[in-house]
Amino acid sequence: MNIYVERAGFDSFQTEIFNICKLFFEQVEMNYESPEQSDIQLHIELRNDGIQARAATMLRAGEETRLQSVFEKQLTPDSPPDMRKRTLKRVISYTLLEVLQKHTGLEQPWGILTGVRPTKLVHLLRTTRTTEQVEQLLREEYLVTEPKIRLLIDIADRQLNVIPDFFEVGKKEVSVYIGIPFCPTKCAYCTFPAYDIRGQNGSVEAFLEGLHYEIREMGRWMRMAGLQITTIYWGGGTPTSIEAEQMDALFQTMQESFPDLTRVRELTVEAGRPDTITPDKIEVMKKWKTDRISINPQSFTQETLDLIGRHHTVKETVEKFELAREMGLSNINMDLIIGLPNEGYEEFERTLAQTERLLPESLTVHTLSFKRASKMTKNRDQYEVAERDEIQEMMTRAIEWTEEMGYVPYYMYRQKNILGNLENVGYSLPGKESLYNILMMEENQSIIGLGCGAVSKIMFPAERDEATGEEKQHIERFPNPKEPSVYNESYKEYIAKKIKLLDEAYGLVRS
Ligand code: SF4
Repeated sequence: MNIYVERAGFDSFQTEIFNICKLFFEQVEMNYESPEQSDIQLHIELRNDGIQARAATMLRAGEETRLQSVFEKQLTPDSPPDMRKRTLKRVISYTLLEVLQKHTGLEQPWGILTGVRPTKLVHLLRTTRTTEQVEQLLREEYLVTEPKIRLLIDIADRQLNVIPDFFEVGKKEVSVYIGIPFCPTKCAYCTFPAYDIRGQNGSVEAFLEGLHYEIREMGRWMRMAGLQITTIYWGGGTPTSIEAEQMDALFQTMQESFPDLTRVRELTVEAGRPDTITPDKIEVMKKWKTDRISINPQSFTQETLDLIGRHHTVKETVEKFELAREMGLSNINMDLIIGLPNEGYEEFERTLAQTERLLPESLTVHTLSFKRASKMTKNRDQYEVAERDEIQEMMTRAIEWTEEMGYVPYYMYRQKNILGNLENVGYSLPGKESLYNILMMEENQSIIGLGCGAVSKIMFPAERDEATGEEKQHIERFPNPKEPSVYNESYKEYIAKKIKLLDEAYGLVRS
C-alpha cells in the first residue's frame, strides 16, 4: 500500500505517521514525494501557535476531500518542549487514525496507543490523575475502546495488589534474569537467542564457565550495593536444555554468591519445551525451591507443532505437565499462541479444551507476531495465517474462556507486527501471578541480565518534571552478546562494563 502524505505546517513526525498507517495495512510504503504513484493520498495540516495544537487530516482523491478529521488541544505558554511535542504527536495521530478508520472500516481497539507497555502509561498517568480522568483521556484522546480500557485498569489495579510496594521495590531490590541460549531445535517464529544445543555455536561447557563467573561477579556487586533480589527468572532459550547436574551447579553458585536467597520472593524456571523436561531436572528445581515453571504447548494441534518446528508431541506436553504435577510442582504456567499458521477458531478451541483438562495456574495468551528476524517472517508466503476477524474472534474467546475458568489478567504487552493489532496477556488464578513478569514489563526496578542474550535494564534515579509533576525515569539497556561463541570470548569485558554502568546508576564510587 503506497500512501502519499502531504504535510502542511511541519516536516517531522514521520515515525508516528508510519506507525498509525501500519495499523491498517500489512505492507506500507510511505511516500512524501509523488501523489501519482500512491494508493491513498493524505493531507495533514498542523498548527501550533503556542496556545493551541490543531491537526487536520484529509483523505483526498485529486482535489476532492473525501474524509476529514480535526482535533485541537490547548497548550499553555509554559508547557515544557517535550510536553508540546507529545501533544502535537497526539493530535496528528488522532486525526490520522480517525480518517483511516473511516476509510477502511477497521476499528483499532488500541486507538493511537502503539507502544509496547500501555499499562506502564496507565500507572504513570495515575500519578497525577484520578482513575476516571485516565479512563476519559484514554477514551477521548487516545481513542482506546472500552474493553481495552477496562483491561488496562484491571491489570494496573491487580499489579498494585500483588506487589504492595510496587513503586518502592526498585529502591532496595533488583530482579535477576539468567539467559541459557540453547534449545533442542529452533521454532520458526522465534527470535530469542536459542541455539541448537547439539550445534557448533560455542561449547555449552565454555558458556557455563562464563555464566558461573558472571553469577559470582554480579552477586558480589549486589552484596556490595546492599541490594536484595525480588525475583529470579531462568529464560533463554530453554534453560532445561542443559543437564540436571549443570543446573544444580548453577543454583549452587547462585546460593554462594547472591544476596540471601531466602528473601527472594519468586524463582521461575522457564522449562518451556516439554522435550527437555526430565525427572532429575524437576528434582533439581524442587531442591532449590523453584516456585514456578513454564511448560509451553503453544498449540495442542500436532500438525501445527510440526509446521513451526517445535519437534515435540502434544502427548509429550501432557505427560511432562502431569509428571511435574505428580512430583509436586504446584505453580505451572503455559504459553499459548493465537494465529499460528493454518490455525483458526477450531484449532484454538481444541487447544483451550486440552488446557482446561490440565488447568495450569497461569497462562500467557500471545497473538502471533511476525518478528523481523524469524524464519517465519523470512518465508512469510509459505505460512497461512487467519484473517483479522478470525484472530479477533479467537482473542474474544480467550477472554471469555479465561474468565469462565477463574483466571484474571495481570500483565500485558504489545508487539510490532502483531496479528490484528492485538496484545499478549498473562492470566493467572488469583494469587499465582508472576511477579517477575509484572516487574519486567512495568519497568519499576532494575533487571540484571546474566548469560547469553540477557538484556539488563538499569534504572537511574527518577527525576520529577516540575511542569507536569510526572516522574521521569531513565532506563539504560545493556545487552549481553546473543551468540554463545561471542559470549564465551568476551564475558569478562561485558561484566566489567555492566558493573561500571550499575555503579553510576546506584551512585557507587570506587576508590
Ligand atoms: S523453545 Fe522458545 S526459545 Fe526455543 S526456539 Fe522455540 S520459541 Fe525460541
